[in-house]
Amino acid sequence: MNYNIAVLDGDGIGPEICAGAIKVLNKVGEKFGHNFNFEHLYIGGCSIDKFGTPLPQETIDKCLKSDSVLLGAVGGYKWDNLPGNERPEKGLLGIRKAMNLYSNIRPAKLWKSLAKASPLKYDLVKNGVEIIIVRELIGGIYFGERYKGVDENGVEYAWDTEKYSVPEIERITKIACEMALKRSKKVVSVDKANVLESSRLWRKTVHEYAAKHYPEITVEDVLVDNMAMQIVKNPAQFDVVVTSNIFGDILSDEAAQVTGSIGMLASSSLGDSKCGLYEPIHGSAPDIAGKDIANPIATILAAAMMLRDSFDLTDEYAAIENAIQSVLDENFRTADIYEEGKIKVSGSKMADLIAQKI
Ligand code: NAD
Repeated sequence: MNYNIAVLDGDGIGPEICAGAIKVLNKVGEKFGHNFNFEHLYIGGCSIDKFGTPLPQETIDKCLKSDSVLLGAVGGYKWDNLPGNERPEKGLLGIRKAMNLYSNIRPAKLWKSLAKASPLKYDLVKNGVEIIIVRELIGGIYFGERYKGVDENGVEYAWDTEKYSVPEIERITKIACEMALKRSKKVVSVDKANVLESSRLWRKTVHEYAAKHYPEITVEDVLVDNMAMQIVKNPAQFDVVVTSNIFGDILSDEAAQVTGSIGMLASSSLGDSKCGLYEPIHGSAPDIAGKDIANPIATILAAAMMLRDSFDLTDEYAAIENAIQSVLDENFRTADIYEEGKIKVSGSKMADLIAQKI
């Protein structure tokens, strides 16, 4: 099969980590008989330098025509003082909006061989952890009506609104259920239904939709405050978790911390079509750019998720995951996950080792 992948390398370590992922994808192509075509496009700071905008129309058009998009990261010191709407990060929001990506999926995976990197007690994580947070991305309080004013006594006040409609909740429930079908067939839905009306609608809709369309899936509700506790108390109990924009934003960062390394975590954003945006969760790490020490594994995992979730290539996904596992089991580590007694390798060497194992 032929797959056309748009590559948005971006800034800082973006080009290095995308190169690592492309190396691994090419090896997967060779091994499984696929042809991956890559087209590199501009986004972020490098695009501001070349075209005066963080997201040129050509990038949008070509991403929309591609089978899927791989993104490195954007941003850096050079563009830090630009006004908000001219900054590299604006390119990211723009491409998500142009592709109508309403869900963000972030697996927080702690590999058994890296259990000691977790800030949690070894016993809690020794068998590995994988929490897949499915976050609603373009609704809720971040996009609701807001207001800032001054009352008749001269006191300043402000408000924001959390608002969700049934179709918005249904489509994110569908994404979570599809993910759970490939895994434990269990979904935990996180809300604050004991206080918020919007959460009560969330809870009712998730249950009704899942029962009607995915009867084989079990849905359990957990209140967001309890969820925040459970992630540090017993993270291994969770598999697929679905939640609103604001709760997902906070909980996915908490879950990421449990894994102990930002260089190992990938994420995807999906909408109604199979064409998604796949990226590492970390930024452009300008402090280490160009030194060949950045860990490429998060971006390699993002590419693996693309194979599984956009192209339905589950064996190819597993081949990449197993390759990473073997390289870690053989004690190879980039600087960010290095511990005494292990073998320190550069970012490009890590990608080579993983590609060799495919
Ligand atoms: P960052 O994630 O880039 O870096 C945080 C720390 O983690 C740094 O010490 C960095 O060296 C390290 N790190 C990150 N990725 C690593 C990797 N793959 N291997 C080894 N170490 C790694 O976050 P930051 O420093 O807050 O932001 C830097 C720039 O990235 C800013 O301009 C910010 O706006 C941007 N940013 C972009 C995205 C994105 O493109 N999705 C996300 C977050 C931040």
